[in-house]
Amino acid sequence: MERLRSQGPMTVEAYMEACNTYYYATRDPLGAGGDFTTAPEISQMFGELVGAALTDVWRRAGAPANVRYVELGPGRGTLASDALRVMRSAGLSPPVHLVETSPTLRQAQAALLGDVTHHDAIGDLPGDSPLLVVANEFLDALPIRQHVGSAERHVEWIGTGLAFDRDGEIVETSPARDEAVRALSEGLVALGGVALVIDYGHARSARGDTLQAVRSHRFAPVLDSPGENDLTSHVDFQRVGEVAQDAGAFVAGPVEQGAWLERLGIQARARALANASPARAGEIEAARARLCRPDQMGSLFKVLAIHSPEWPKPAGL
Ligand code: SAH
Repeated sequence: MERLRSQGPMTVEAYMEACNTYYYATRDPLGAGGDFTTAPEISQMFGELVGAALTDVWRRAGAPANVRYVELGPGRGTLASDALRVMRSAGLSPPVHLVETSPTLRQAQAALLGDVTHHDAIGDLPGDSPLLVVANEFLDALPIRQHVGSAERHVEWIGTGLAFDRDGEIVETSPARDEAVRALSEGLVALGGVALVIDYGHARSARGDTLQAVRSHRFAPVLDSPGENDLTSHVDFQRVGEVAQDAGAFVAGPVEQGAWLERLGIQARARALANASPARAGEIEAARARLCRPDQMGSLFKVLAIHSPEWPKPAGL
């Protein structure tokens, strides 16, 4: 607010970046008591199937002993915890490297996962061994630019509050996302390995305004209470794939999350968990449905794999 009043309009990109930096640094936004719930927070099955898919592709790549587990924006560390449990039980115990900017969430991750190394950016990851990378709901949080015709859209102070400086048919781009995907893909090409990128978004590039704010599990106006809502936008998976291929990486998908989880065996895993704890059978089935059903997370969420040319394509894609 101060910046907008004293320095004049800022781009949507600068607004989103300023809001989210403050937002993530000052809270744990996840779970029932927070603002939003992610797939790994819904059920252990999600992280377990990620761990199984990574173990499988690692074996088919010749099981290199020096592989590292990397997560981008790991939240509370829940996904990593579930994935690493499965990987370790299959004989794979990689060192854990987390790209995370929030001090609050870094603390939560270290408390849950123990021995981890934190990094500020993808470019800071160690460059001497293959990577198994997971990014769930990471790209959606990176800032986007919005364009109306040839003009970039700005946010401005109008005396009583905030407003956009123009409306019309919107085209979104995200240099920050492109840069993250480029750095990730170049790393995979140089070192070997795979990345599973999971997020909500569209398989084909399209026009339209997808910037959204969420607070306490409800949509909020994007310009209300800057820094107190989770600001995200839909990921353009076509673009992600193109940037990865331009960097020399191979791409598989995107496929819808529901189909991907079913191919990886979520039905069987849900049955095994329900057999082990019959009292929880209803809860387990509800979680499976929430992750997979097209009217819930199954269709809007997509999975895209980026891998080095000499590594195989992960299962389920
Ligand atoms: N992957 C987790 C959390 C998703 S929320 C889950 O599925 O539950 C987004 C995560 O990305 C948070 O951990 C947030 O702190 C982190 N994040 C947001 N912007 C970031 C940035 N620019 N660099 C690194 N991490 C970022």
